[in-house]
Amino acid sequence: MNTEPHGYRVLMKLLFGGEPPAWREQAACSDTDPTLFHTPSRTAAAKAVCASCPVLAECRENQLSWEANGPARYRDNAFGVVGGLSGAERRRIHYPPRNAKDVA
Ligand code: SF4
Repeated sequence: MNTEPHGYRVLMKLLFGGEPPAWREQAACSDTDPTLFHTPSRTAAAKAVCASCPVLAECRENQLSWEANGPARYRDNAFGVVGGLSGAERRRIHYPPRNAKDVA
C-alpha cells in the first residue's frame, strides 16, 4: 500500500507548509472527490457538502485569510468552492463593490 501523501494531503502541505491543521480531520470533504470542488458545473453540489461540514467556519476563515495575506494572485485567481464559497464569492469579499452600480 502506498503511504505517500497524495491529492488533498499534498495540497494541504503546499498551503500550510506542513501538516494540515487539526480541524481538517473533521472536514466533510476529506473523503469526497476533490474535482467536485473545482468543477464549475458542480458548484451547487460542492456547496452542499460544505453546508454539512462541521468545520465550515474554520475552513472559510483559513481560506480567506490565506488569500488575503498572500500575493494578489491568490485573491485574483480564487477558484473552486472552499469554505462554502465559490471563487467569485471570495473575490467579491476581497474586492467589495465600491457602489451600487458595481453590484450588478
Ligand atoms: S467547508 Fe467545505 S471545503 Fe472546507 S473543509 Fe468543509 S467540506 Fe471541505
